[in-house]
Amino acid sequence: MKILIVHAHPEAQSFTAALKDKAIEVLKAQGHEIALSDLYEMNWNPVASADDFLDRENEDYLVYALEQRKAVKNKTIAPDIQAELDKLLWADLVIFSFPIYWFSVPAILKGWFDRVLVSGICYGGKRFYDRGGLVGKKALVMCTLGGREHMFGEGAIHGPLEDMLRPLLRGTLRYVGFDVLAPFVAWHVPYVSDEIRQSYLDECEKIFTNIGEVEFLKFPSMSDFDEQLYPQK
Ligand SMILES: Cc1cc2nc3c(=O)[nH]c(=O)nc-3n(C[C@H](O)[C@H](O)[C@H](O)COP(=O)(O)OP(=O)(O)OC[C@H]3O[C@@H](n4cnc5c(N)ncnc54)[C@H](O)[C@@H]3O)c2cc1C
Repeated sequence: MKILIVHAHPEAQSFTAALKDKAIEVLKAQGHEIALSDLYEMNWNPVASADDFLDRENEDYLVYALEQRKAVKNKTIAPDIQAELDKLLWADLVIFSFPIYWFSVPAILKGWFDRVLVSGICYGGKRFYDRGGLVGKKALVMCTLGGREHMFGEGAIHGPLEDMLRPLLRGTLRYVGFDVLAPFVAWHVPYVSDEIRQSYLDECEKIFTNIGEVEFLKFPSMSDFDEQLYPQK
């Protein structure tokens, strides 16, 4: 498989980076081709702006998604976006590696989604969910947390983990068509013992050794909805 890892942690020696390195080691040993976007190391610009277009359709009023459509068609999108888009379209599987920040992704990764998941290729009109532009590709979220496992779930203080990750798993990854694998989560990372952190690295090794066995999350199909996107009777 061709695998892109999008990694977002400001410290190269972090535990999140150790998980990313373990994933690369295991996947490479199996003969997979790996590309890495280490966003902090790349000094990735996360801010979507008019500067993302070398040539504007409308110079007077910025409609970001419309300019994206035109720019990807005419190859006038900013070179840093085009380079990431090329990697994304090359990959069969994309792994997102990051620490949870405020129930979400670090801003640098949010900005990767904003700028790289372009309208016209990744989605557009009614091309989303199982009709999204990236149908056929897989995505896996690998994240670290300060919180403990028992704080997540039905009735738990923070509610289910899937609720916290919904904007990412459903609103972003599934929206553009990815088959989304069950996330890999390392809990309470700064506060646990070295032994427990080692067990997370072992679990990571197991998951990436058997990547074909990770279950997919379930989402609605567009075919269950009518032209106006009301549920089919
Ligand atoms: C802005 C912000 C918002 C946050 N919001 C949330 C939130 O909403 N919910 C939540 O739960 N948490 C939240 N957190 C906490 C954050 O998610 C965790 O601190 C983070 O995931 C921990 O992972 P890390 O890679 O940064 O750990 P690190 O701090 O890098 O590492 C933890 C420990 O692991 C050790 N270590 C490094 N490499 C290895 C290795 N190979 N083997 C064994 N040990 C190793 C390190 O020396 C260190 O002692 C937030 C943090 C910030 C800064």
